[in-house]
Amino acid sequence: MAQAPFHLQRVFGEAFRQLDPAGRKFRLNLADIEVKFYPYVGLHHTIRVRAGRVYVRLSDIFQSAPPEVIRALAFLLVARLLSRKVPPTHERIYRAYAFSPQVLRASDITRQKRGRKIISSAQGKAYDLDRMFSRLNRQYFDGEMEKPVLTWSKRRARSILGHHDAAHKTITISKLLDSREVPEWFVEYIVYHEMLHIKHPARVINGRRYYHTAAFRSEEQRFPRYQASQEWLDRVVRKKHELRARAA
Ligand SMILES: [Zn+2]
Repeated sequence: MAQAPFHLQRVFGEAFRQLDPAGRKFRLNLADIEVKFYPYVGLHHTIRVRAGRVYVRLSDIFQSAPPEVIRALAFLLVARLLSRKVPPTHERIYRAYAFSPQVLRASDITRQKRGRKIISSAQGKAYDLDRMFSRLNRQYFDGEMEKPVLTWSKRRARSILGHHDAAHKTITISKLLDSREVPEWFVEYIVYHEMLHIKHPARVINGRRYYHTAAFRSEEQRFPRYQASQEWLDRVVRKKHELRARAA
């Protein structure tokens, strides 16, 4: 757990002062606020009060977040703690960053690394991933893609619907999608997206990894139900990165 620099304490102190100027709920000194980065699985932040002290744990994915994003997040967490309305500008700033491709990707990677890797099976209750792969391979890749290990995840993860692990040559699809309530074309879209990761390996530019390059994106948009898939994705995914704040 990384100790956050002192200025973070001040940012949270400012949020408390602005959202609760009279100190009605908490009378705090800066020394009563502890802010640390924590290696959560995925994107997650918590704020708790215990014995007059405030404990903030921010996802370590945010260690490189710009100051205005940290400030927005501080206001969001403190507002939730105080049961105050969340200031919309802060919400907007936070979301723009939290939903950016790099952050979503970083979040997926922590899940991948920190979560357990479990191979179950390609044959699900509703859909068979191996057959789906073969069909997509014929249709979009001239049947030339080498078959990776395909597997349904053990848990019904809402956070990563699909994941390609280049090191293990594995595509994992969330079991959440193994249901007749989920349209087959949407599952195909997720598998297709992961297959594109095989075709377009990550590019490293200035020490940063780019997974969804322009070439990747344009090929992705060739999927016939791309638009409809994005809408489905929104519906399924939006719930997952919700800001969670808890007062104890
Ligand atoms: Zn991707």
